[in-house]
Amino acid sequence: RWTADKVPAGPADPILGLNDAFNKDTFEKKINLGVGAYRDDNGKPWVLPSVKEAEKRLIEKGWNGAYQKEYAGITGIKEFNDASVLFAYGSAGKVIEEGRLAVAQVLSGTGGGRLAFEFYARFVGKNVPIYMPDPTWANHLPMAKDAGLSLQTYRYYDKNTVGLDFNGLCEDVNNAKDGSIFMFHACAHNPTGVDPTIEQWKEISSLLKKKNHMVFLDMAYQGFASGDADEDARALRMLVEDGHDIILAQSFAKNFGLYGERVGCFSMVAGSKNEAERLLSQIKILIRPMYSNPPIHGARIVATVLNDPALNKQWYSECKSMADRIIDMRKLLKSNLEKEGSTRNWDHVVKQIGMFCFSGLNPEQVDRLKNEYHIYMTKNGRISMAGVTSKNVEYLAHAMHQVSK
Ligand code: PLP
Repeated sequence: RWTADKVPAGPADPILGLNDAFNKDTFEKKINLGVGAYRDDNGKPWVLPSVKEAEKRLIEKGWNGAYQKEYAGITGIKEFNDASVLFAYGSAGKVIEEGRLAVAQVLSGTGGGRLAFEFYARFVGKNVPIYMPDPTWANHLPMAKDAGLSLQTYRYYDKNTVGLDFNGLCEDVNNAKDGSIFMFHACAHNPTGVDPTIEQWKEISSLLKKKNHMVFLDMAYQGFASGDADEDARALRMLVEDGHDIILAQSFAKNFGLYGERVGCFSMVAGSKNEAERLLSQIKILIRPMYSNPPIHGARIVATVLNDPALNKQWYSECKSMADRIIDMRKLLKSNLEKEGSTRNWDHVVKQIGMFCFSGLNPEQVDRLKNEYHIYMTKNGRISMAGVTSKNVEYLAHAMHQVSK
């Protein structure tokens, strides 16, 4: 007879486990630089005023409305899907105009990625390798593995230059078996904060085409990276213009601050409207037995914001203020490290893009930060810049200098 006592305890999630340790710590100046969620300059979560306004309007529309808490269809709310793909693709490749997108509302970025991997496993084949950047967001690996895909990595980050290993990346794209799947972060690569320039993207694009590789883009930070959602979509739009039939997973967790609402959008570029319809029919068949249909509330908020010109404008400036605060904290961290007398080169702290700073601190130094200074970050030295404030940056710089001098 099978009994549950045969199940061994699994390891805690490396990022969420860090949160537990932080919560238990009673030290007054403790700092959480682990989880990638935005905090204001007082270290508090921020619900965007544009989001609050949209929520208010939705409620005012009427609890009496018969549809209010009804199921969405398998692919979610149409107004959200339409607004979401317009937000990402703009007019790129005329894919929207020509009806060449298969679109489904999904469970945030993770859900979109997992759906993409399930799609590849079923229709491209489990034996076709999927290449991911080394390093990548930790969850990407089990997401692809659990879908049964054959995981490979391509070179991405160069420790010596603390930048992109562009030559290594191109070599790996070239050496991969023709027709492999390549996954890229559309902007603000997590954990390194290092993105290719648009010129480098163009070279990558032509290599990918030469090799007939398929492209999966994970876009978890549109608008959050630079403060300009169009700028952050440049690589995606260029790839689509260049003729790649990509799959895209959009997340609205960070840029709209809707983490727990699980708002995301899956889209796939097809060769024709008819092909898009066929793809969508299969995507529905994948979704239905997994979770039936997505949650409605967060998607309605995003649709309300994106579809109302005034609210949309307001959101842009709120999103920019989050991006700007992160950029300011990068500058402050660097200048405080210099003030502490650090002679190490910290240029990468200000050069990197998005929520994370790949600090270059090694696992021993990360441990010392935790044990001696009550500062929590992932073992790979990744700092969530959202946890840095004008009030704790001096203490952080002091501690970083002490462990790295
Ligand atoms: N992709 C990347 C690169 C991320 O950093 C994250 C979140 O940290 C996600 C996807 C997915 O997040 P969510 O499922 O909350 O949208």
